Amino acid sequence: VFITLEGGEGAGKSTQLARLSEQLEGAGFPVFQTREPGGTPAAEALRNLLLFGEESFCWQAEIMLHMAARADHLAKAIRPALAEGKIVLCDRFHDSTWAYQGYGIGEGRAEVLEYIRSLRQVVGGEPDVTLWLDLPCEVARQRISRRGGKLDRYEGQQMQFHQRVRAGFQDIAEKDPARIRRVDASQSLEEVQAHLYALVRQHMAG
Ligand code: C5P
Repeated sequence: VFITLEGGEGAGKSTQLARLSEQLEGAGFPVFQTREPGGTPAAEALRNLLLFGEESFCWQAEIMLHMAARADHLAKAIRPALAEGKIVLCDRFHDSTWAYQGYGIGEGRAEVLEYIRSLRQVVGGEPDVTLWLDLPCEVARQRISRRGGKLDRYEGQQMQFHQRVRAGFQDIAEKDPARIRRVDASQSLEEVQAHLYALVRQHMAG
């Protein structure tokens, strides 16, 4: 089973991913936990370049680099883990490209969305279930400022950027309601965790 977690900054993805992984392992399931951009040494090198590099790329190159990292990740980590029968839990995947590069940076322009759509078909790798941790941008901003630390290139963007990203997730959730399950991330950690676990078990029960 291939499960992805998606959402904007501050939605609690990393915390929830760790909890979900622990809970599934506790129930006896083999889990492989990973993240994007990254997940293999080569893809992690691209992550560094994309998130913390001195240079920025034109939007086409940025999308291709995310897709290149994903191709490596799929070939060397995700597909082998699925072949071994593991539950793959991935922090961000194709939908983040749609939301961040398509809506955030590309502002939802048809040309950019079409570019992403076509590369996505080439790269492949469709999740069985996507858990979207949704949070109003104002709440996300408060959580991030409380967390402190160094912001990456995307986290430091204006509020309008994050609002567009959220609209991007909204857009795919509406287009693909069978795969994408929205979870209200403004609930307590325990409530979100219970909701995520229930959705995963529900999917596995078929
Ligand atoms: O989820 P996490 O905070 O680890 O994501 C790392 C950063 O990469 C985030 O700032 C996210 O916005 C950004 N990102 C992106 N485009 C993607 C995937 C991640 O801008 N396709």
